[in-house]
Amino acid sequence: MELNENARVDTSQVDDRRGSGGGGGMGIPIPIGGGRGGIVGIIIAVLVALVGGGFGLNAATNGGGDEQGDNTSLEQKCSAQDALKQLDCRNALYVNSIQAYWRTAMPEAFGEQYRPSKTVFFSQNVSTACGAADSGVGPFYCPADDLVYIDLTFYKLLADQLGAEGEFAQPYVLAHEYGHHVQDLLGTEAQMRRQQQRDPQSANALAVKLELQADCYAGAWAKNATGTADDKGQKIFKSITEQDISQAIDTAEKIGDDAIQQRSGRPVNPDEFTHGSSEQRKQWFTKGFTTGDPKSCDTFGSGA
Ligand SMILES: [Zn+2]
Repeated sequence: MELNENARVDTSQVDDRRGSGGGGGMGIPIPIGGGRGGIVGIIIAVLVALVGGGFGLNAATNGGGDEQGDNTSLEQKCSAQDALKQLDCRNALYVNSIQAYWRTAMPEAFGEQYRPSKTVFFSQNVSTACGAADSGVGPFYCPADDLVYIDLTFYKLLADQLGAEGEFAQPYVLAHEYGHHVQDLLGTEAQMRRQQQRDPQSANALAVKLELQADCYAGAWAKNATGTADDKGQKIFKSITEQDISQAIDTAEKIGDDAIQQRSGRPVNPDEFTHGSSEQRKQWFTKGFTTGDPKSCDTFGSGA
């Protein structure tokens, strides 16, 4: 994967709330020498909620979601010449690419206007309209305030503890979260919740379909990402290689529910799946990537 160093990072699409609480430092408390149970516990906490649409959040709303970070320093940093050497500027550019894609893809595929949404960078903890959250829940989308939330130190955990390495895992994770935003805009998410209420026994299976569809949407973005441009028309990606795509697929596999259950030493139990098995996640990401068409992501359809 190569980014175009001339692409302009639009930091107005992110809300930098790092350092506005939580005290900076290392975001994710990784217990060193804290016993295997501790590490496994954190991995499970992260993975259960990973790219998880905010299901694991504390439902008690504490008035969050209306906070605004200070983007001034990020804006300066990301307009510097070697901005793309910085993790946060690169991630802001990934967000730009994903949203540029949906601006055209959503009307094309579904006949509806795309409404942009910001990604909140936070460290350690954050208050959202879906409740208070800490880094342990992993990146998530909150349908109540339409925002994507991520503590960027999550990527280190993804690489170190889950073995999902490679830069392309990062835009994959973000594209999955924006997939949830698209589901929110299209009403798919609300429809799924109503179905869950009517049929509580299928609640997990329905949640899995929503997750797999977000994976498929991420694949559709990946296919079209090299066609995305900044607001001056400069291409964002110079190239995306087959290796990048295998990295994304590898990440999707590593965070499948069965892989998580196996890592945690528990027997694999499909009834507890909330995100789909490794094979399913891989399969749906690949479907989106192969077709490049979000309409093909009909995980709720009869053939799924
Ligand atoms: Zn998700």
